[in-house]
Amino acid sequence: MIRDIVVYPDKRLKLISKAVSTFDGALHDLLDDMYDTMRSKNGVGLAAIQIGADVRALIINVPLEDKGGDSYAEDHDENDQPKENTLEMINPVIVEKEGCEKFQEGCLSIPGVYEDVERAKQVKVEYVDRQGKKQTIEDDGFLAIAIQHEMDHLDGKVFIEKLSFLKRKKFEKEWAKRLKA
Ligand SMILES: [Zn+2]
Repeated sequence: MIRDIVVYPDKRLKLISKAVSTFDGALHDLLDDMYDTMRSKNGVGLAAIQIGADVRALIINVPLEDKGGDSYAEDHDENDQPKENTLEMINPVIVEKEGCEKFQEGCLSIPGVYEDVERAKQVKVEYVDRQGKKQTIEDDGFLAIAIQHEMDHLDGKVFIEKLSFLKRKKFEKEWAKRLKA
């Protein structure tokens, strides 16, 4: 089911999401709704709080043609994000990170805004899947960036908080104008 996206500056985006402890049908429904909602907006990643659920769950689905790293593109083909390719990460923890990379990011909660953000180039992340099974993933490409972006949401952070003071000011001004329009 497609759900409404929580849009900046909604206060819910500042919530620290809670750890998941039951891996039941409700969690699976939430993850399925997250996928439907993400796809409906041509997104490549979504954290649960972005549909209003403050639990530590996120999904990422890197479009097949973009594999290997590209910006969040707005015009994906219908079939290049099959559901079985969705990475579902619950209670993720970064256990290793290395390097530094600047990358242009976007966010479904701040639609239409794309800005360069600096993050670790390589991350190793431990998480559990929808069955509660422990998993580990390591990446140094687009996926690494996407994981860090979505994990920030679990801690109540959005990517524009990483901008310089002046860029942030400019963004807030333009965003306020857009919300009024
Ligand atoms: Zn986001």
